Amino acid sequence: RAKETGKARCVVYSARHSGPPEHDISLEAAMFQAVREGEFLLYYQPIVDARTREIEGFETLMRWRHPTLGMVPPVRFIPIAETNGLINLLGAWALKAACVQLKQFEEVAKRSLYISVNISPRQFRNDKFLDVLDDAMAFSGLPGEKLVLEITEGTLMIDPAHAETILTKMADRKARIAIDDFGTGYSSLAYLKRFPISVLKIDRAFIRDLPGSQKDGAICNAVLDLAKHLGLNVVAEGVETEDQLAYMQDRGCQYIQGYLTGKPMAAHVAMAALRERTYANLMPPELRQVQA
Ligand code: C2E
Ligand code: MG
Ligand code: MG
Ligand code: MG
Repeated sequence: RAKETGKARCVVYSARHSGPPEHDISLEAAMFQAVREGEFLLYYQPIVDARTREIEGFETLMRWRHPTLGMVPPVRFIPIAETNGLINLLGAWALKAACVQLKQFEEVAKRSLYISVNISPRQFRNDKFLDVLDDAMAFSGLPGEKLVLEITEGTLMIDPAHAETILTKMADRKARIAIDDFGTGYSSLAYLKRFPISVLKIDRAFIRDLPGSQKDGAICNAVLDLAKHLGLNVVAEGVETEDQLAYMQDRGCQYIQGYLTGKPMAAHVAMAALRERTYANLMPPELRQVQA
């Protein structure tokens, strides 16, 4: 336990002393104000079937709309929240709100969807995390099967024994685990065998230079092959072009998430997208093919 804490402190220390300090401190102060003022909101990015482009689920992405700074991107505020612990509060809210939101999405779409929520290392390691998860599921009435929790390789590697305990308990609740930014962290492939993982999300860094880059192609092929033999689903992140989608689809990648098939959007925009698809679904198959 003491050893874990030591490691976590190390991360906190380096994070605190990397960025421009004055700016971070004012941003940090503004964050507490922002929580009180309700400036945080959630966006939703479609995760689609690579073949049909039908929306299968959404990833929840946090946004901070500051009255004068405008939209502060998560890369700026999540690390601060991770350092000062605010992430536990924000993350618990995001999880609960996302579960409630999915129920509304499903009502509009009139079909089953799932919601994917990012869980930060500190949240994952918090003693209360399973209570937070149970609370979100109980409050929303969302069954575990409709929930995907995205964690990074780094989160697993801080303390693999603890991670195994938590992941097993998540699996008991039928929630699925996705490895986010797969291939970019420090980790061993052994964890794919050890932990109950369902989804690999290939990082945008490996998609960006497709189809031109032979190396990225080789990496994507290897991940798809690995996933196939382990019975895992794959989501290609950051797909921006038709060529990238075609490349991944041709190689058996089932799910796509990227600007091509939908940017992160406010809930009401997502609902409009679902409603449109609902009407499209009413079309006879011949017409739908023409449309595609
Ligand atoms: P992530 O979980 O890997 O999320 C995917 C990021 O890629 C999102 O950035 C999304 O907007 C962006 N993206 C998706 N498709 C494309 C594309 O086609 N092109 C490009 N250029 N970008 C694309 P975003 O929303 O800025 O979030 C950045 C990171 O912040 C996330 O990476 C995640 O690590 C973290 N984050 C966001 N929301 C939350 C949250 O609620 N909780 C926690 N713990 N972390 C969050
Ligand atoms: Mg993610
Ligand atoms: Mg990702
Ligand atoms: Mg990422």
